Amino acid sequence: MAQFNLDSKYVLNNGVEMPRLGLGVWKTDNKTAETSVTQAIKDGYTLIDTAKQYGNETGVGRGIAAGLEATGKKREDLFITTKVFNGDQGFDSTLQKFEGMLKRLGLDYIDLYLIHWPVDDTFVATWQALETLYKAGRVRAIGVSNFDETHLQQILDAGTVVPAVDQIEFNPLVQDTKIREFAKKYDIAIEAWSPLGGGASLTNPAIQAIADAHHKTTAQVILRFDLQSDIITIPKSVHEARIIENADVYDFQLSQAEMKQIEDLNKEQRSLWLDDFYWHGNPKGYKDEVDQWPDSPEDYDA
Ligand code: NDP
Repeated sequence: MAQFNLDSKYVLNNGVEMPRLGLGVWKTDNKTAETSVTQAIKDGYTLIDTAKQYGNETGVGRGIAAGLEATGKKREDLFITTKVFNGDQGFDSTLQKFEGMLKRLGLDYIDLYLIHWPVDDTFVATWQALETLYKAGRVRAIGVSNFDETHLQQILDAGTVVPAVDQIEFNPLVQDTKIREFAKKYDIAIEAWSPLGGGASLTNPAIQAIADAHHKTTAQVILRFDLQSDIITIPKSVHEARIIENADVYDFQLSQAEMKQIEDLNKEQRSLWLDDFYWHGNPKGYKDEVDQWPDSPEDYDA
């Protein structure tokens, strides 16, 4: 069993090395995103995960700049992921919106660009736009998010590049076994969103018992489970102590029995799926709107 550290990388199917643990920033306004990203970089994180949807790419960009300045690290020491906004999907639109995203983040390339959700009718064309950006060297890797086996198959049939990553909801209660089996066949890495179940998995008694046995917290046990399951993981916190805690998962190891105990908690209970979206035929579903924070008008861009 490999002993990981915060610099451990997952080698993607195109040879690009992606950190195995990073920081998520969903539900975080620009100011807070800036502070947490700066803090995380100071604490040794190199992977940051955002999305236009979160309305905080500008704050994340400021946090990256401040983190690099504080640590003396270089841009290429970091691995930045963002995602094509659902309302921007389609071939031309995806290409047109690319420069605005780079401007918000203050970057001239992206390490991993994902399709946020498989929007009906447009995700294949969106994928073709991502292939164009990838072949032009504007992004180091391209991938998808919230794609199940059928969406992945459509991309594989229509495209010329195999997605490097599928970022899906993954935590003890939703382990997405079917998608993971499919992804494995094509060497598509799985990245866990809401690895802590948005906080909900932290009070699970079985995980607490394992945590007590190792003198670790439940968050640390869950994140260690991800690493040992070969899953890239991006816990979100805006608190420095938790940012440090979530990366302090390298001094213990879960036994096979403990791994199995956590695997057995799987109920495939997703918190968010396609039917929750307006564009998937649900008139009351989520609309294609960027999360709006009072201080981030620059992130609402059309
Ligand atoms: P997480 O599972 O990472 O949980 C975050 C919650 O747990 C927050 O409330 C945080 O609070 C709390 N928390 C974090 N660490 C600890 C700790 N050590 N102890 C106790 N509580 C803790 O949820 P997210 O939904 O944010 O998922 C992570 C990331 O995944 C997102 O931020 C985003 O980048 C990505 N994502 C992608 C999606 C997609 O569709 N592709 C969908 C959803 C998420 P606090 O901040 O106050 O510390």
